[in-house]
Amino acid sequence: MKVTMLGTAAALPDPDRGHSSILVTVDDEQHYLLDCGAGATRQMLRAHVDPADVNVVLFTHLHFDHIADFPFFALSSWICNRESKPIVLGPPKTEHFINSLFEGGAFDTDIVARAQFPGRGATMEMIRPDVRTVRPGLVYEDDYVKIFADYVNHIPQEICECFAYRVESKLDGKSVVFSGDTSPLDSMVEFAKDADLLIHECTFPQEALDYREEIGIGTASHTSPGELGKIATKANVKNLVATHFSTFDTTNPVVKKFVGMHMPIEMVGPGLIDSIVRDIRKHYDGSLRMAHDLMRIDV
Ligand SMILES: [Zn+2]
Ligand SMILES: [Zn+2]
Repeated sequence: MKVTMLGTAAALPDPDRGHSSILVTVDDEQHYLLDCGAGATRQMLRAHVDPADVNVVLFTHLHFDHIADFPFFALSSWICNRESKPIVLGPPKTEHFINSLFEGGAFDTDIVARAQFPGRGATMEMIRPDVRTVRPGLVYEDDYVKIFADYVNHIPQEICECFAYRVESKLDGKSVVFSGDTSPLDSMVEFAKDADLLIHECTFPQEALDYREEIGIGTASHTSPGELGKIATKANVKNLVATHFSTFDTTNPVVKKFVGMHMPIEMVGPGLIDSIVRDIRKHYDGSLRMAHDLMRIDV
């Protein structure tokens, strides 16, 4: 399996990172897209992957930093001659999200206009995604992979169920687990057990979490570096990649202003990536990398 980190940021706009999106590729040409945050389609092109060849998309949850590129992905691959409709798996409200986008939805005018051309009008099926609601357990299987889902804890369930995914290759038995956004969970230890690669969110360094707790901003919905180290060790994963970084390492003056809502502005800077590594290392001594956009990992 090959993993390409298309986007590695959390929700704040970041000039150096796209929003959450990971491409898992099996047998060189079977693609599985985990989340489709802003910038995902453009990053596929930069990774020399044709978006029209990506046919299975899984949403971990419906925060915009995990789904906002989907209309661009679907519409642009439609006009680039997509040959099969995308299968989209996600929480129960995924169907509502998809139905609000295309015919009769936000992009209806665009679709009606383009469909005037006979060639485009004949391919309308390509922008009618096959939407499937995810429940914990086996959620997708084809000749190449089995994909499993498990609940994680991030948004209240009545607003949006949130999921982690485990992709297992049928060709060589290798496994990749993506946590989505979540607080630290014992169930993740079981779900990621012995995985060849765990890609886990690590949104804030400990310094920011301490500050957020002190001033009363919610901290419960993400995983601290120290807790991530404990999970990786208990799950006995072979490789760990931390991702979903909340721009705390920026030197950009505009972005610093945004991050200043979450931590003291004088704390913000590249040194905080080292702080994350130090805190993970207190509990985990295996293979560890900090994600960056277009990072390629061969599993
Ligand atoms: Zn997120
Ligand atoms: Zn989220």
